[in-house]
Amino acid sequence: MSDVVIVGAGPCGISVAIELQREGFEPFIIEKGCLVNSVYHFPLNMIFFSSTDKLEIGGIPFTSVNEKPTRNEALAYFRAVVKHYQLNIHTYEKVVEIAKDDAGFLVKTEKRGNHFQYPAKAVILATGYYDNPHFMQVPGEKLPHVHHYFYDSHPHANQETVVIGGGNSAIDVALDLYRTGAKVTMVYRKQAFDQSVKPWIRPLIESAIEKKRIDMYWESEVVEILPDGVVIKPKDGEKMILPADTVFAMTGYRPDVTFVEQLGGEISSDTGAPVCSEAMETTVPGLYLAGVIAAGHDSSKIFIENGRYHGRLIAKDLKKKNKLEI
Ligand code: FAD
Repeated sequence: MSDVVIVGAGPCGISVAIELQREGFEPFIIEKGCLVNSVYHFPLNMIFFSSTDKLEIGGIPFTSVNEKPTRNEALAYFRAVVKHYQLNIHTYEKVVEIAKDDAGFLVKTEKRGNHFQYPAKAVILATGYYDNPHFMQVPGEKLPHVHHYFYDSHPHANQETVVIGGGNSAIDVALDLYRTGAKVTMVYRKQAFDQSVKPWIRPLIESAIEKKRIDMYWESEVVEILPDGVVIKPKDGEKMILPADTVFAMTGYRPDVTFVEQLGGEISSDTGAPVCSEAMETTVPGLYLAGVIAAGHDSSKIFIENGRYHGRLIAKDLKKKNKLEI
């Protein structure tokens, strides 16, 4: 039995486990998929926008052939970190409920039809955001050719594709599809790309749009998705249908804070984020957050670069409060 349960083996959950081990705790992580499941499901050829030093956890150096690592290099790095610290991770086991009583928490899980329960004096939620796409709530969004995730461009060569959105992910997808020979049309509700667009991809996408290699509809709302097209409404124009064999709705992801709500934790009506102390403790004593789950509606403000420090804060706090009588 472990006194501290961490939910989610993403970069931030792993970082919490390392910091807790350093303080003398024996935490274990419950992960519904594989190790760093979100990163594993990132686009096959993605390159991180962060340099390797900004993704390091547990003081383990991260080296890459280039300045910024690939998805594959990151997967290898996180495997090495977990091996180095001999972290205790239950993979392919999903946390389905967390109950609270006077003694602490009861974490209930499911693995291949079997159910398990783990008592814990503290629980750290590090469940990220990648499982919950931000839906546009338009008719047709659940059609099988509409995707909120992108893996590889090869299946879309010579196909009509529509990419919805104008953030980094949408731009990466549009450029990758174009390079593979897809016909690409982008639809974005704003009139220009944000400042947050990575400086090294901005000239590429701007040039592709200027040279009409990628068609761009600025200030346009998606009204409906049809089996073979996307209905849009440009700000100053009539509704129109863009042909589409496949639609990539890269409209972002949102953290799921259901466990916090179920346990009675306060959620800020302004930000949509659970209210937390500086040590990342929610208003439910003993329930902590680590990583992007703490971000609320603006999920771009926490990422690996800053979320990796939550573990240190949590471990120090738990040690100070001596909650676990170690
Ligand atoms: P996650 O990595 O999402 O981990 C959460 C884990 O919890 C997952 O493994 C999930 O399976 C598990 N989980 C969820 N629910 C349950 C449950 N009920 N039971 C058990 N397990 C559960 N950030 C950077 O800092 N630099 C970058 O260069 C960068 N590039 C990015 C590129 C892309 C394409 C994307 C999409 C994101 C990028 N980010 C980057 C953001 C970054 O990946 C996320 O912010 C990061 O993954 C957050 O880490 P996390 O540990 O909080 O969550």
